[in-house]
Amino acid sequence: MTPAASNGTAATSSARFLIVGPQGSGKGTQGVLVAEAFGVPQVATGDIFRANVAGGTELGKRVQAIIEAGDLVPDALTSELVRDRLAQADASEGFLLDGYPRNRGQVDDLDTFLTERGEQLDAVIELEVPREESITRIHQRAVEQGRTDDTEEVIANRLAIYERETAPILDVYRARGLVVRIDGVGTLAEVTARIFEALAARGLAPRHPGAAA
Ligand code: AMP
Repeated sequence: MTPAASNGTAATSSARFLIVGPQGSGKGTQGVLVAEAFGVPQVATGDIFRANVAGGTELGKRVQAIIEAGDLVPDALTSELVRDRLAQADASEGFLLDGYPRNRGQVDDLDTFLTERGEQLDAVIELEVPREESITRIHQRAVEQGRTDDTEEVIANRLAIYERETAPILDVYRARGLVVRIDGVGTLAEVTARIFEALAARGLAPRHPGAAA
């Protein structure tokens, strides 16, 4: 542990995080906790798309069928959405991206965006959950939230896309030394504690340590 991690006073000046994991890994919930603790917005592309579908916006109409099939929205559209969101004032000191980037093209788009701004990522949080466990959790969520993209066939498609397109981006970030791998099996609190411990070990201390408890 670094001194910054143990006394919790030396906050990092920026907090730019990705959280990556299969559907049902708990990344949405954990991402919110990390974002709150570091005082940065959580930006979840899936949530933004779903809100647009629910609100019947132009964007929502364009992406509805894609989301319902569990396919990926085209990179150009997704990256533009993220670019606009990250350009907002509340993301100037940092952000936590959940669900983006999801393939190599999006990694390149995010690199371009960050380079233009003279910024870089601080950490990529990888939540590791075995396939069976993710499937169980997705089913549970389907019952609780009634998500229309949580049918059997769509779940299988989304997991296949994760394994084929998203998991490989972790190798890119691993080569850059950014990946913090977290065992995602356990209670919510156990996994949260692991994440904060691992970030602290890299000198990434929350601005609002109380929120991490
Ligand atoms: P999620 O809640 O992250 O599982 O996202 C729900 C759906 O939104 C996905 O199945 C995709 O159809 C779409 N989506 C979310 N993020 C992205 C992304 N980065 N690239 C392409 N499509 C996305």
